[in-house]
Amino acid sequence: MGLRSGLTGDRRRAMKTGPIPEALTRLDALEREGLTDPAERKALEAVAAEFRVRVSSAMATVPTAGVRAQFLPDVRELQVRPEELVDPIGDEVHAPVPGLTHRYADRAILHATKACEVYCRFCFRRETVGESGHLGEAEFDRVVDYLGRTPMVREVIFTGGDPLVLSPRRLGAMLDRLEGLGTLEVVRFHTRVPVVAPGKVTEALVRVLDRALPVWMVVHTNHPDEITEAASAALRRLNRAGVPLLSQTVLLKGVNADADTLEALFRKLIRNRVKPYYLHHPDLAKGTGHFRVTLAEGQAIMAALRGRLTGIAQPLYVLDIPGGHGKVPVGPGYLRRDGKAWIVTDPRGAEHPYRDL
Ligand SMILES: *Cc1c(COP(=O)(O)O)cnc(C)c1O
Ligand code: SF4
Repeated sequence: MGLRSGLTGDRRRAMKTGPIPEALTRLDALEREGLTDPAERKALEAVAAEFRVRVSSAMATVPTAGVRAQFLPDVRELQVRPEELVDPIGDEVHAPVPGLTHRYADRAILHATKACEVYCRFCFRRETVGESGHLGEAEFDRVVDYLGRTPMVREVIFTGGDPLVLSPRRLGAMLDRLEGLGTLEVVRFHTRVPVVAPGKVTEALVRVLDRALPVWMVVHTNHPDEITEAASAALRRLNRAGVPLLSQTVLLKGVNADADTLEALFRKLIRNRVKPYYLHHPDLAKGTGHFRVTLAEGQAIMAALRGRLTGIAQPLYVLDIPGGHGKVPVGPGYLRRDGKAWIVTDPRGAEHPYRDL
């Protein structure tokens, strides 16, 4: 049922093959490109009224069902389950000033904008992203003021929305102010732009990121077919500017929740000089139940990758504990107690005793 199965059949044949010059934000545009089913129009209108729709031109032309399922509205989004909390990651609980989330002592998250290049159907911030407007100048002043008073924050993490929808000039101005504080060791960007809108990684952008204060980037990507040649070229531009590249991936049913797809993704990332950093267990965001896998399924996939995939391509599998209690690794575990000793499981599943001194 739903769009996912339809896409691999008739609808995909109906798809136009030429380039799509602009992001698609309306249902009639998606239908024109053969991406959604006119018969589902009414239900999809209800979905779009709840959660904004935007498919970047780069992603609208990738035919893989697992890529499209991330961006195309689906009638199943209307099914809200009781466990799906309003603020699944507790951003609001830890906001000392508007726009900043300070949950961990040494680092804080800056919501520089609520806009994104694409609106991912599984997004854990789906109830706040998509509103117009970026963080204003006066609000940013308050953020800088807080950071000035709070030198234990040594890292500012630009997130969103997607911070790379901001102009290079605006980002440069913000980075200059943060660098001027003298208290930061590093600035980090969490972004989907290099993959979903690689044309936005311009020389002007790369120039503002190449600075004395180290800028790290965590690229959000979930499927190997998302990393097009244009995306590879964008990653290379960033890499050449001295921006260390990491990735984060959300484990998603119907997209990447099997060892083969994730192995292909993580291998492609290291070929692009990107170190897989986190594999996120899906959050309890509203209307995303059809994407969710169990922790046991996630652990089994990670266990399958251990031993078969080079260590530099292995991310840490993490859960953001609902309610804003933090992110923790969720296994699988390879170690258990046996009286005063330990039992260690090897990558093939065999157990071995281990004794501390
Ligand atoms: C995820 C997150 C961070 C960053 O955590 P890392 O483990 O350093 O990647 C920081 N603050 C908040 C509120 C977060 O949710
Ligand atoms: S915040 Fe990230 S995951 Fe959420 S819609 Fe924007 S790009 Fe997608």
